[in-house]
Amino acid sequence: MTGNLSNLLSEGLNTSSGDQASPVMPVLFVGHGSPMNAIEENEFAAGWREMGTRLPRPSAILCVSAHWQSKGTKVTAMEKPETIHDFGGFPRELYEVQYPAPGSPELAHTTAATVRARVVEPDRAWGLDHGAWSVIRRMYPDADVPVVELSLDYQLSPQQHYDLARELAPLRKKGVLIIGSGNMVHNLGLVSWEHMNTSGYAYDWALEAGDAMKKSILGGDHVPLISYASQGRAFRLAIPTPEHFLPLLYALALQEPGEPAELFNDKPVAGSLTMTSVKIG
Ligand code: ZN
Repeated sequence: MTGNLSNLLSEGLNTSSGDQASPVMPVLFVGHGSPMNAIEENEFAAGWREMGTRLPRPSAILCVSAHWQSKGTKVTAMEKPETIHDFGGFPRELYEVQYPAPGSPELAHTTAATVRARVVEPDRAWGLDHGAWSVIRRMYPDADVPVVELSLDYQLSPQQHYDLARELAPLRKKGVLIIGSGNMVHNLGLVSWEHMNTSGYAYDWALEAGDAMKKSILGGDHVPLISYASQGRAFRLAIPTPEHFLPLLYALALQEPGEPAELFNDKPVAGSLTMTSVKIG
């Protein structure tokens, strides 16, 4: 490619600054489900792996995980984040998984500087929880893309989370892959354990809520999702606590006008969970 053509392309892709050579990265919301998806060969692992091959190569990953809630918003800032096994009662094999991706103090710093409306505090105590590594190890098995996590401030309203996420948009132009990791429908109290491995099994309310969520996502209508708490019984059952749903709002907030959204791993499991995932851009 000639220098001129290359410059033209990069200017076209980077509409705000024009000073970066990398394309605007897509954004993902990933339904992570059971920690066993980290090691079991199943359709969800295959879907994550395939997505890893479809995306442009990221300079780094910023992951908003359902499994890191904190007072205030934090960003991991260590050089070598630990693999955190934040679950109980699983086979030893799962506890032996290490995902040695480097961290990126530089991205942590950039993230904190990019968000202006809230303080984002560098953190050196967390690491990578399974919301991040169970999915990312399938996408980037060589662990050669730096990974940083952003916490969910449990004091914020859904709208405040959405607004905070909106401020992360410039990172996409720096080649950063932003991943929200949770589950759109996630009610562990109502899981049908006998159908734990039955892909496609869903209660009627889980289907109702999941279908309504997908309709809003594909229609680019984020308002009913931000106001999920006033959407009636099916949503109340689907989102008994907010932490697995909020990472979806982080991904949606980064959708630019006219930017396409597509679904993958779009299946319920165990009656009361959905693995439905979204690629934006
Ligand atoms: Zn989870």
